[in-house]
Amino acid sequence: MMIEVEEALMIILNHIRVLDAEKVDILDSLDRILAEEIYSEIDIPPFRSSAMDGYAVVAADTVGALAGNPVYLEVIDDIPAGSLPKRPLSCGQAARIMTGAPLPAGADAVIMVEYTERDDGQVKLFREVSPLENIREAGEDVAEGDLVLPEGTIIRPAEVGMLASLGKRAVSCIRKPRVAILSTGDEVVDIDQELSPGKIRNSNGYSLYAQVVRYGGIPVPLGIAPDDEGKIKSCIEQGLSSSDMLVISGGVSVGDYDLVKGVLADLGAEMKFWKVAMKPGKPLAFGLIKGKPVFGLPGYPVSVLVVFEQFVRPAMRKMAGRKWLKKPEIEAELCEEIKKKPDRRNYFRGIVDKKDGQYYARTTGPQGSGMLSSMVKANALLIIPEGVSYLKAGEKVKAQMLDYPEVE
Ligand code: AMP
Ligand code: MG
Repeated sequence: MMIEVEEALMIILNHIRVLDAEKVDILDSLDRILAEEIYSEIDIPPFRSSAMDGYAVVAADTVGALAGNPVYLEVIDDIPAGSLPKRPLSCGQAARIMTGAPLPAGADAVIMVEYTERDDGQVKLFREVSPLENIREAGEDVAEGDLVLPEGTIIRPAEVGMLASLGKRAVSCIRKPRVAILSTGDEVVDIDQELSPGKIRNSNGYSLYAQVVRYGGIPVPLGIAPDDEGKIKSCIEQGLSSSDMLVISGGVSVGDYDLVKGVLADLGAEMKFWKVAMKPGKPLAFGLIKGKPVFGLPGYPVSVLVVFEQFVRPAMRKMAGRKWLKKPEIEAELCEEIKKKPDRRNYFRGIVDKKDGQYYARTTGPQGSGMLSSMVKANALLIIPEGVSYLKAGEKVKAQMLDYPEVE
């Protein structure tokens, strides 16, 4: 039985569980989902400090200071960043101070060095400063006890910096999904093998590896299994024991050598579906073996990439604790007509440009599922829905943007 894309995605996501958490060094936490609440045990900044290079003063002392009528103060201290003031400040006194250095007791403002002139033991001030000017208060960024990062936060460079300033060397994050990748087919050889007659190179194993990395997973490459039930079976078993999810390319169609189906049955897989009403990608199997998701993708290199984007990517993202699973989509005006059969949803490889605030879309040309060059040229997949057989130039289409960031 053939099911529609939306239903297939729902079935898949309903069978995906968020992975458990692990403690990781914050340098490895980027783009992962925080699995604990982070409270601050300190004030940040930890002490009242100067926001500028200049002189710490009592603001009241500066009243009336002008370029032509400077105020003179006695300089009693020099406080570089990282040192402590040697003595408190009284009226009529100033302390040389650098950005980030602790403010001496008694001072309530800092005058920027640009408005001063040093004169031996004294400093001349050429303008007034108000109380609290150029001062960073203790805890003005983060106060002790604050909930700084709630559980579920996506860790970006800013969060990594915040964790460092809180003194956290390691944090609890959702594990990255380990995705095993198996290519099947007697005709398939690896990159460095000779391309003898009748053979093709394994591109799927490599494009899938790259997709797993791009969407935050850890690829577990299993290489190539020939069209042999015993060998496919042992590769699948090996893959399942070392990963959270298995992706197989090839062998799920109805040919005499499409053996994956039988092997999955043999392994006791609970298969949820075998076919999805989409092009490219109609033969697409999904099931579970001992609770672990298994995807059987078509062998065609374009089908592999397109099916991965629609189904494996969201499954991986859900496992990793992400809430937003949709591919970024825009609406574009077609620059050419599109014809298709109405039976399935089609994903045309497209090129989307923006001109004067408007998106325009055209196809990359020939759309064969084996033509990897159509994916290389594309920056979008133009989604032509089920039931539609013709769109004329000027009509609107939805375009999935292949390289846009996955925003939440
Ligand atoms: P299949 O689904 O096994 O019938 O394969 C469909 C088509 O995809 C055939 O033309 C295969 O040669 C091709 N194909 C299968 N596996 C790969 C692979 N790993 N890399 C590139 N092409 C492949
Ligand atoms: Mg095959």
